[in-house]
Amino acid sequence: MTVSLTVHRGTQQIGGSCIEIAHPDGDRLILDAGRPLDAPDGATGLLPTSLDRTRLANVLISHPHQDHWGLVEEIPPAWPIWTGSGSAKLIAVTGDVTRRPLARTFETWDSRSGPFSIGPFIITPMLTDHSAFDAYMLVVETAGKRILYTGDFRRHGRKSTLVDRMMAKPPADIDVLLTEGTNLGSDKPVKTEEEVERDFVELFKATKGRVFVSWSGQNIDRTVTLYRAAKRTNRTLAIDLYVADVLDRIAEGTGLPRPGFPNLKVVVTRGLGSYYRSMGREGFVERMVPFGISAKKLVDSRHVIMLRRALIGDYQRSGVVPTADDAYNFSMWRGYLSQPYHSEPLDWCKSAGASIAYIHTSGHASPADLRAFAAAVHPKMVVPVHGIKWDEESHGFGPVRRLADGETMVIP
Ligand SMILES: [Zn+2]
Ligand SMILES: [Zn+2]
Repeated sequence: MTVSLTVHRGTQQIGGSCIEIAHPDGDRLILDAGRPLDAPDGATGLLPTSLDRTRLANVLISHPHQDHWGLVEEIPPAWPIWTGSGSAKLIAVTGDVTRRPLARTFETWDSRSGPFSIGPFIITPMLTDHSAFDAYMLVVETAGKRILYTGDFRRHGRKSTLVDRMMAKPPADIDVLLTEGTNLGSDKPVKTEEEVERDFVELFKATKGRVFVSWSGQNIDRTVTLYRAAKRTNRTLAIDLYVADVLDRIAEGTGLPRPGFPNLKVVVTRGLGSYYRSMGREGFVERMVPFGISAKKLVDSRHVIMLRRALIGDYQRSGVVPTADDAYNFSMWRGYLSQPYHSEPLDWCKSAGASIAYIHTSGHASPADLRAFAAAVHPKMVVPVHGIKWDEESHGFGPVRRLADGETMVIP
């Protein structure tokens, strides 16, 4: 009776995660089917070759980041795919806006589901703190073995108490902790989302004109932070149709800001408006109109304005161009600035003389929090994934078993 574990991809890289847990009778669970972050746009055939596609398996997606779900369309059609209910909605948004609507559907759990069974596996999804909304850690129990997969997590976002609570009362008797290690070997400061909010309040107060901000529309914590900072400084947050779409799909039944809230407006620009209509989403666009603001009104200095490359043309046509009174903040990982898609909005504001700020915090746990989490769980063994510095930085994690991609380990 041996349970085996294979990390098909992720022992040597950040993203592209794909992990298999196999029951002695042959039943298999796949944790994540992630697209490698460096995969060229449109490339296919990216599922790890070590993953046996000839036998049925169930797939669990930990959270709605593409480096964890981006290969679901390559999963054999007969294999069921499971994820959180909020995660399923956000994965669908991405498919819609990239004009690649997903053919796959998901079985879903939610944060109140508690443990459920798939064949010989008992799965307990545990909502966690990450820059993606509806992100889960997963406890998998089978044939007397217990495995905890962290997915991606942090301990300094708006849901940090979930991780604190879990560390105070960790799942018992974990044989294997599969943990991410994105920030290992980096000493970049990790601010709490509250500190980020405070910094934005300062920036909004100090800026005479408007503040343009680029952030990920699916980073709900950041949208909340910007909304709260705008409210605290009597500004109005102007989101685009995409951010409105994201909030519209998930905010129901939560306290999250959404179209219709004070100090929040939806910019219905010509370009993005016709894009949504062309996708058959006229109804959504019409629903947003009462909460809308025309781009022309964004000349008013009290606005905090969502900026992405796709919006620059629309803004320019409406006379919305940055000035020396305005400020710009890139609120994502700095590394993305090597791509023109991300650097163009920065350059557009910089060349107009706007002041440039960088207020952001990581979506992933600091090295200290990663080690503290492993110490709290106290597993028999740690198997590293989702990191590039594990060889140098595995000290402080307890007994570590370093695997190669595709190498199968029997859980002792
Ligand atoms: Zn990831
Ligand atoms: Zn992630």
